[in-house]
Amino acid sequence: MNPETRPGQCSGETPGMGAEALDLLVGRVVAEVRKRLSFEVEASGRHVHLSREHVDALFGKGYILTDSRGLSQPGQFLCSERVALVGPKGALENTAILGPERKESQVELSITDATMLGVKAPVRDSGDLEGSAPLRLRTPKGEIVLEKGVIVAQRHIHMTPQDAELFGVADGDRVSVRVAGSRPAVLEGVLVRVSPRYSLAMHIDYDEANACGYTKGVRGTIIR
Ligand SMILES: [Zn+2]
Repeated sequence: MNPETRPGQCSGETPGMGAEALDLLVGRVVAEVRKRLSFEVEASGRHVHLSREHVDALFGKGYILTDSRGLSQPGQFLCSERVALVGPKGALENTAILGPERKESQVELSITDATMLGVKAPVRDSGDLEGSAPLRLRTPKGEIVLEKGVIVAQRHIHMTPQDAELFGVADGDRVSVRVAGSRPAVLEGVLVRVSPRYSLAMHIDYDEANACGYTKGVRGTIIR
């Protein structure tokens, strides 16, 4: 034994264990720890993101949306204003608007919402709007027709680069997540989104949330 090292103290070498075996052991420990890491799952109701041009058209030129409360992702907020979604088969009044303004307007629906409105919204990653569905938006002050922008948001996890390292995943990865609701379910194809601007949370819509027996505070784990 190294005379500098008292029993129980780490000398940087493990007697009787080769470097290869040690690597294997560390790999197993890391894998075991990663299996136990979890994150909060948040259910997102239907909502709209608006461009500057569309805020002008729906609320009046130069109108500033009101920040009513902050959301889990830094800088994102729920607005006090509401908008009606008008489809060929039905309308959804009082739909939430999330700020801040975006370059392109985007409407995020559940498949149930889309069916109710009578629109064919594709499942898409946020921002991937080419060929997505059109829809009419209305407020007491104005009305617009979005040529595209209506999607069913792909289930996703927001992470910082530090979280991604901990979970052993990278931006753009697709993973399977067990959501531990009252009727637990594994959701596949969950998009990993990594940015220093994010905070750790998984986002699903209410169709998915109900399927898992979701209640606030439910956690998700990545299935390896
Ligand atoms: Zn999200």
